[in-house]
Amino acid sequence: MTYLDHNATTPLKPQAAARMAHMAGLWGNASSVHRYGREVRQHMMAARHTLSGAVGATPAGIVFCSGATEALHLALAQCAPTQVAYTAIEHDAVRAAAGTQATVIPATPDGVVHLIALEKILQQGSIKLVACMLANNETGVLQPVADVAALAKKYGAMVVVDAVQAVGKIPFHFGSLGVDMAAISAHKMGGPAGMGALLVREGLDIRPILRGGGQEMNRRAGTENFLGIMGFAAAAETLEADLAFQQNLSAWKNAFEEKIVAHAPHATIAGRRAPRLPNTTCVIMKNTPSETQVVTMDLEGIAISAGAACSSGRVKPSHVLQAMGFDAADAASAIRISSGRTTTEADYVQAWQVWLSLYQRKHSTPSTTPLAA
Ligand code: PLP
Repeated sequence: MTYLDHNATTPLKPQAAARMAHMAGLWGNASSVHRYGREVRQHMMAARHTLSGAVGATPAGIVFCSGATEALHLALAQCAPTQVAYTAIEHDAVRAAAGTQATVIPATPDGVVHLIALEKILQQGSIKLVACMLANNETGVLQPVADVAALAKKYGAMVVVDAVQAVGKIPFHFGSLGVDMAAISAHKMGGPAGMGALLVREGLDIRPILRGGGQEMNRRAGTENFLGIMGFAAAAETLEADLAFQQNLSAWKNAFEEKIVAHAPHATIAGRRAPRLPNTTCVIMKNTPSETQVVTMDLEGIAISAGAACSSGRVKPSHVLQAMGFDAADAASAIRISSGRTTTEADYVQAWQVWLSLYQRKHSTPSTTPLAA
């Protein structure tokens, strides 16, 4: 089986598995005063330092959470729903946390946040928090977070960045982004699922959404996920190697995309003209439901995903692609191919062969409405 769904989750790094196994005998509560608690607390403190160093945050600026979904909910809860603006291409975690009273910032056809529209929204004066992701999970399109931060600053608003898909794929240094908060997730960088963090800039006090304990400096109540934190920090130790490997992924991904463009006029690579992650391709195959493509490729031994899948596994038209101007049919005919640490060039070659044979079955007769490549 070839795994090309690293944006969904990337395999647990052996170092992370080993660290968690090594620490599994420690079961103390980090809040306890006695030595059992102290030992766990010390390891957690070391992990906090490791992680903060790897992502450019301060140790005190890390709030460990159950994942990026919780981290984003925590960030967005800092303002009233009517004071929040988020981009139309955000992950469902942001869209759900923001709710229906928040303002949606449109995206361009390339899948990039519309900065002029953002400025108009900010000029109205009611927005106090802007949520903008660093890299889109479906298309891989990178967002101009520095520009968003500059605009927000001009109008006195804070910025939260969903950096989940960026860490380990492009250089990421929280302190240099000029934003107030960022969410990261362990299982997207080779750590365990169910573990994430909100990074908070120095000097910003945040209110908890989970109350009933003083953990995480009163910002997130609940006994810490000690083993999760161990795995998270171990995964963070090799982020530089992950980053270096992205050069290979980028070359293999580009070759794969060039073949699609050259041989498949009824296919479109979403966001192709925009700067994107080195590992992500979102390709629409005209008149071919995402589910059909995912199942066909699975039967041929390739694990990929639809552009957007609910947790139930059912596919709905991608809100990201619709925000880019694709109609509902096209937005429900996309797949995402995302590579990672364990990917080889042969995986991409195999993916191309399987994808092409499906494409040829679906589009063997010339169509009158070819999609622009
Ligand atoms: N944000 C983005 C861009 C994601 O891709 C994901 C996971 O798919 C999340 C947030 C949610 O992360 P977690 O699974 O840690 O809650």
